[in-house]
Amino acid sequence: MYELRGNIHIHTNRSDGTLDLESIIPRAVKAGLDFIGINDHHVECEPAEYRQGVLVLNGSEYNLAHSHYLAYDVARGPEEMQLGSRQTVDWVNRQRGMGIIAHPFEKGSPYFSGGRAYQWQDWDVDGYQGIELWNATSQWKEYTAKLFRAVLALFFDRYRPLLAGPCQQAMQKWDMATRHRHVTGVAGSDLHGLAVRLGCLRLAALDYPMLFRALNNYVLLKGPLTGQGDKDGRAVLEALAAGRCWFALDWLACSSGFRFWAHQGEKRLGMGQSLFIQGGEAELVVELPRPGNIRLLADGQEIASHRGRNLSAVVNKPASYRVEVWLPFRRGQAPWVFSNPIYLREKKVQ
Ligand SMILES: [Zn+2]
Ligand SMILES: [Zn+2]
Repeated sequence: MYELRGNIHIHTNRSDGTLDLESIIPRAVKAGLDFIGINDHHVECEPAEYRQGVLVLNGSEYNLAHSHYLAYDVARGPEEMQLGSRQTVDWVNRQRGMGIIAHPFEKGSPYFSGGRAYQWQDWDVDGYQGIELWNATSQWKEYTAKLFRAVLALFFDRYRPLLAGPCQQAMQKWDMATRHRHVTGVAGSDLHGLAVRLGCLRLAALDYPMLFRALNNYVLLKGPLTGQGDKDGRAVLEALAAGRCWFALDWLACSSGFRFWAHQGEKRLGMGQSLFIQGGEAELVVELPRPGNIRLLADGQEIASHRGRNLSAVVNKPASYRVEVWLPFRRGQAPWVFSNPIYLREKKVQ
């Protein structure tokens, strides 16, 4: 497996971001990112390309008022600036693109965008490939909705709002969905280069270098990179769609080397894959690059935990198994790594 680290849900000045792509690239290089996902509002998706060694996935973000949807590899975007949730998912699926529900439970802040929040509307919709479970900008806005917290975050600790971890409502929806089908979980920056004006003072709140060091997605590719942007871009999107990935708060510690797999006899499989246990059992194994508090969850319920660099557990219940790792931090613990599930199913449905 070939591991890549990337940051997705980035806006440039083609829509409402503050920097152009040319200025963003060196910042991504400096942050050590292998790929970035650009999701400007209502632009056409284009093939991925390499810029200064960084693989750029040229996606889009559909809809304005509600039901924001990150889209990749779609030949033609909708002309309407607002479709219903279902129409949006269908639009992307008809063209065999990949779509991720963005910031579904965003709450907004009176200090930004006039307090507007852009939530997903229709949860009866099926067929989306992923959910953005942790959106750095949404979380930052929600945290700073109270003035004293805004001052704290702006002047003393800009990463503090992220210590709350992924959106719990979104995680619950994800755990519900993955009981029945495959859905990838990702983290997004929603990077705009957000700044706060205090009189004539302009304070950088969420700038590009800061968020490039915050929430990243790691993908595992089946083969080495080819050096051709379109091919490598497809490989990264394929890994994301397949759920061969995890996301992490890299600001705490680099999570490169995290592994979660299942084995049953000779058979070994990783995140995003399904194993049919047919009355038998399987061993789940977690390996970390540094010690942490490891939690193993089945359909969203913790079934095992261990403090250290490894965890292994034998399971026989059909469920979607995923891992969370929290790191000791200040006087408590902070959210670090969130895996995609391994799906243990009763039997293969013909
Ligand atoms: Zn959005
Ligand atoms: Zn966005």
